[in-house]
Amino acid sequence: MGPFGRLKIVSGVRAGAEWDLSEEGSFPIGSNPKARFHLEDPKVEPVHAGLHCGPEGAFVDNRSKVSPVKVNGDILMGRHKLQAGDLLLVGSVTLEYEAPSGRSASRSAKRQVPGPPPRQEGNSFQPVSYSGRAPLEGVLAGLGAGIAGGLPLAFAYAYLDLFNPCINVITILFTAVFGALTGLAAGIGMRWGKVRCRRTQGIIGGVVGAVALHLSWVVWVSAFLESQHRLYSQHPVTISSLYVHPGDLLYEMGRICDFGAWSLFGSVTPSGIVLGLIWLVEAAIILAAAWFAARSFTPALFCEGCATWGVTRKAVLAVEALDPASVKARLEDGDLSFLAEHPVPGSRVASLIQVDLASCTGCGDTRTLTLSTATMTVGEAKQEKVDLKALAEDLLITRQEAEWIESLSTQAGESGSGPTPKPTRFSWKK
Ligand SMILES: [Zn+2]
Repeated sequence: MGPFGRLKIVSGVRAGAEWDLSEEGSFPIGSNPKARFHLEDPKVEPVHAGLHCGPEGAFVDNRSKVSPVKVNGDILMGRHKLQAGDLLLVGSVTLEYEAPSGRSASRSAKRQVPGPPPRQEGNSFQPVSYSGRAPLEGVLAGLGAGIAGGLPLAFAYAYLDLFNPCINVITILFTAVFGALTGLAAGIGMRWGKVRCRRTQGIIGGVVGAVALHLSWVVWVSAFLESQHRLYSQHPVTISSLYVHPGDLLYEMGRICDFGAWSLFGSVTPSGIVLGLIWLVEAAIILAAAWFAARSFTPALFCEGCATWGVTRKAVLAVEALDPASVKARLEDGDLSFLAEHPVPGSRVASLIQVDLASCTGCGDTRTLTLSTATMTVGEAKQEKVDLKALAEDLLITRQEAEWIESLSTQAGESGSGPTPKPTRFSWKK
């Protein structure tokens, strides 16, 4: 056994062979006869993997584009710190890593953590339920804030459309931003007013979006007519007259629609049904963005006990990906122990379960647990993309259970090779 441990071929050509890792430095693993760790296997490339020994321990990385190295069944991405018992698949050769004595097996140490606090028999985890209350002052605050924010935005939007009269990335982006900021203003008001009913939040978002959209039309139509004298009406058209007379606004919109308002590529001027459809899509984008933004601003957790919003801590812990059915079955049994059984080793794995905790900032008694499967894919340009898929959302847990999960998080940080994995920022342990 070297100071950095030992690699042993457990299956494949030359099974039983061992290498003591006794020197510091980087060494190739592959079929090249000059490779320090020479594997005679047709599926092994000349330099298939790299091994690095140093004060931090022993690390392995993948060098094969054709058949990537797997660590404990997961495709190896980046550098992996070897832990006692790790199984490396290189081509069709399986190697086992034995840790140097004295600093062995953080994995077995992790298995010795105390189990979760006991739950009553058959006490499965239930999602947090809200009163769904929408206090009147909250609704008014949402409407007030949304309109106060939406009106100036409507002016800005109308003039941007007037001076940039075409469909391009800027106008589409600004259309969505206009709706989203209006909805966000309503969301801020409703967060202050403790509206915890998602449906109400969405409705208020839609209403303030519609109010802002209407004003943007009023401003745009009056400014457009002013700039086009041939379209100018018999009767004077001002912002205030259009604002209070929706019939006049519709009439003028209809006239503009017949002529068309701007040209596409300098030649085609959409008018009639085509222009009407473009306007409908624009309106739909604004309303949808306002609806979405108004609903997304409030935190996931509201404590009905002390009437306080909670805070969510994302990726408190990351554990090995298990199949969703077994996770759901364990949760139905009121069993959280799998969070301690399957810690993610300090490696960059392709898939894991992300654990989020939320807690009330007032009394601290209301706590929830959210589990999602996080899958990382690496694109052609080596960019990393993480997909989160919910496994269980906002399950009520006790304060003791939340503290137990936090203790797992601390232990993972101490025994692993760095801070706790934070899958949202995806330090999948470099
Ligand atoms: Zn509370």
